Amino acid sequence: MKSPCLSICPLASGSRGNSVFVSGGTTSILVDAGFSGVELERRMRAKALSPDNLSAVVVTHEHTDHIQAAGILSRRYNIPLYLNLKTHLAAEAKLGKVDQVNLFACGTRFEIGELTINPFSISHDAADPLGMTVEHGSAKLGIATDLGIATNLVRQHLRGCNLLYVEANHDPHLLNIGPYPWYLKQRVKSRRGHLSNQEAAALVCDVRTPALAHVILAHLSEQNNCPEKALQVMTEALDSPHIGVEVARPDLPGALIDL
Ligand SMILES: [Zn+2]
Ligand SMILES: [Zn+2]
Repeated sequence: MKSPCLSICPLASGSRGNSVFVSGGTTSILVDAGFSGVELERRMRAKALSPDNLSAVVVTHEHTDHIQAAGILSRRYNIPLYLNLKTHLAAEAKLGKVDQVNLFACGTRFEIGELTINPFSISHDAADPLGMTVEHGSAKLGIATDLGIATNLVRQHLRGCNLLYVEANHDPHLLNIGPYPWYLKQRVKSRRGHLSNQEAAALVCDVRTPALAHVILAHLSEQNNCPEKALQVMTEALDSPHIGVEVARPDLPGALIDL
């Protein structure tokens, strides 16, 4: 059987923590490591993925739900962290001592082993937050969570992906009637907050091409959303039996998807 170009497995997703395993060829990375290190290792092993084979942790931004174990895993497995300068400065205290820091700039693609990473700026209340595409062979996947608005730049980068791992944070009605204080509701809804189910669906429909085979809904709020609603909004918007849609969960790793 032909080996896949790219594989992806969500390890954790949501405001409690985020991490995605991505591999292509002989290279495996984590995009974010915002959970306890022990639990991320346990979840990788549960999916027959080896943390010993990781080549890097790539960090999207400095919020704790994205970097909690980044420094720990870097030290434990002697692997570099990849992040941009402003994120590094903002995250330094939380990361602890890290020997291997590789700085990159949004807008400039780079390689980690056999993977090509193309990071792009997103609108979120962090120092210099980013989304990215990852390519290997003919396969391309896009990762965009923690964004208040899907800008033209985001749309350009996500066009043509085989898989989109995209934030569907909240249902606007559940957010409005939910327990968050007013200022937090405003933050979530703002241009530097998080995408709603409907905004995620509009983004995916805008950037889809016939190459799109999978959509993973990520960073769902446990207070202001429910998986069934998020799935329903995306599935109805896509209206295609050829695109698999699933939800990345906070409490369990997802399925390993091969592209
Ligand atoms: Zn987050
Ligand atoms: Zn964030």
